[in-house]
Amino acid sequence: MIQKEVRGLVIRTTDVKESDRILTIFTAEMGVVSALATGARSLKSRKMSSTMQFCYSRFLLYKSGEYYRIREAELIESFFGIRNTLEGLALAGYVAEVLSDVTVAEAEEDLLRLSLNTLYAIAEGKHPTDRIKAAFEIRCASIIGFMPDVVACSECGERQGDFYFNIMGGSVMCRACNEKRARAHALPENPHESQIVCILSETAKVALSYCIYSPLEKLFSFTMPDEDMLLFSRATEEYLVNQLERTFTTLEFYNSVKPRK
Ligand SMILES: [Zn+2]
Repeated sequence: MIQKEVRGLVIRTTDVKESDRILTIFTAEMGVVSALATGARSLKSRKMSSTMQFCYSRFLLYKSGEYYRIREAELIESFFGIRNTLEGLALAGYVAEVLSDVTVAEAEEDLLRLSLNTLYAIAEGKHPTDRIKAAFEIRCASIIGFMPDVVACSECGERQGDFYFNIMGGSVMCRACNEKRARAHALPENPHESQIVCILSETAKVALSYCIYSPLEKLFSFTMPDEDMLLFSRATEEYLVNQLERTFTTLEFYNSVKPRK
C-alpha cells in the first residue's frame, strides 16, 4: 500500500455519509489533492479538529483504489481568528478558491507559503483586509508566472508621476507615452487592441513593486493614503482575475461584505 506524508492547507470540505468528510487539500508536495477522511465529523474522532476548512495539517495519506484516504491528521495551525470577522472569513474563502484554481507545477511551495502568510495575517487582524487581499493578489500572480513589469514606464523609463497599468500586457506607461500612444491609435480604432487599463498613482505603483519583491514576512507591512489604496487594490484585482481569465464567486462575496470607506 502506498503511504504518503504531506503537509497541506484544507481549502474545501464536503460532508459525506453520517460522519465522513472529503477534503480538498493544497500541498507543497502534490499540489491539489482530494482525500476522504472517514469519521472526521464524529466528535470522538481525532481527525475532527485537523480536517476543517483553513486548517494547515500534517496528513498521512494512503491510496485505496483511485482515491486517497486519510489515515492520520495532525493539526499544525487552525487560523481560528479568521472567523472573527465576516470580511476576514470571506477573504480566506477567496484565497482558498484561487488556490483550487491555480496549481502550477514547481510553484506550489511558494504558493502555499504565501497562502499561509495571508491566512495568518487575516487571523491576526492587525492589517486591513483590503491591503492583505491586494498584496496576496499581485504576489500570487507573480508566483504563478504572471509577474508584471511595473518599475518604470515601458516606453521611456520614467519612474515618477501617474501611470497607466496595462492589465493584459502586465506593464506600465507614463502619462506622456500613453497620450502619444492614444494619438497614434486614434484612427482607425482597432478593436483587437482594446485594452484594460488601470490608472496608478506613483504611490500605488510603488506599492505594486513592493508586493512583488518584498520578503514574504513583510508583505503586508506598508501603508498609503486611501485614494492610492483604492487605485492599488483595483489594479491587483483586475490583474489577477484577467490573468486567470475567470471570476470567483468568493471574490464577489468578499466585495459585497467588505467595509466601505
Ligand atoms: Zn513614458
